[in-house]
Amino acid sequence: MKRHSICSMLTAGLMAGTCFGLEKETSLVTGKHIGNLAVAGKAKAQNYKPSTIAEIPEKKKLKNIKSHFAHLWKADKTTSKVAIKSGPMRNVELEWNELGTQWIVESGEYEIKLSIENGADMSIEDFMNVIRCMPKPALWGLSEGKHHGVQIRDKLGGGSAGCAGAGGVFLAQGRWQSLAAYLLHEASHILFIVADKLTNTKLMDQWVEAMAADDISVSVYADGRWDEDVADFGRVYFISLMAGSKKHYGDRTALEELERLSPQRFAAFKAIIQEPK
Ligand SMILES: [Zn+2]
Repeated sequence: MKRHSICSMLTAGLMAGTCFGLEKETSLVTGKHIGNLAVAGKAKAQNYKPSTIAEIPEKKKLKNIKSHFAHLWKADKTTSKVAIKSGPMRNVELEWNELGTQWIVESGEYEIKLSIENGADMSIEDFMNVIRCMPKPALWGLSEGKHHGVQIRDKLGGGSAGCAGAGGVFLAQGRWQSLAAYLLHEASHILFIVADKLTNTKLMDQWVEAMAADDISVSVYADGRWDEDVADFGRVYFISLMAGSKKHYGDRTALEELERLSPQRFAAFKAIIQEPK
């Protein structure tokens, strides 16, 4: 299989969801759903809390949520501790008939499989720096994508920076700081798929309802595509989470500001990242 078709292969015959195209404006990435991850057990369905904010006049003036929070992002490799558990295993067969080197890394209770395609320009130390930038819920998502884990590939189809599905994430080689930003988006795709399998409710329908109720765009890239809306919202949520308790918006933290602007998505995403007990 030629490399240029790598991402278009991911969805073939598998889970619904389209994530074609590359966001030119901000380099946020494409993603795809690439099959189902077997997850045991069922969690209780979680409903949205009703919005307590009737109307926010300045909301209409915002271009979108992502641009409102963009300045808070910085790749911070001190976010999570990550260490090699096993590896390297060399010349492991990766998808699409390519060989690579593989490691298992651990961060707290999570184990994540990392692979670097032979010839891709990335060191394991920089790869771990990408993972170190992830907050805990994103690490959980990545650990659930066990089949592919996270793979650094020489290149992806259509010039994509990344693709994701239930089985894991593929990222095109790049600077670790950039890949960390992409991975927040891709981890959100996995988290949604995992949550969707854990609940009895149709999360897609709930998310689409939340988008309508919140009545604000997350990003140009996500406009009109609910699954990209989830992933870009997830990225903003994680950036806000990592921004911590500092009052970045008047008397509000970033998370409080995000909840204020998009309360239904906020509640939905909080439910999505809730690990089953
Ligand atoms: Zn995506």
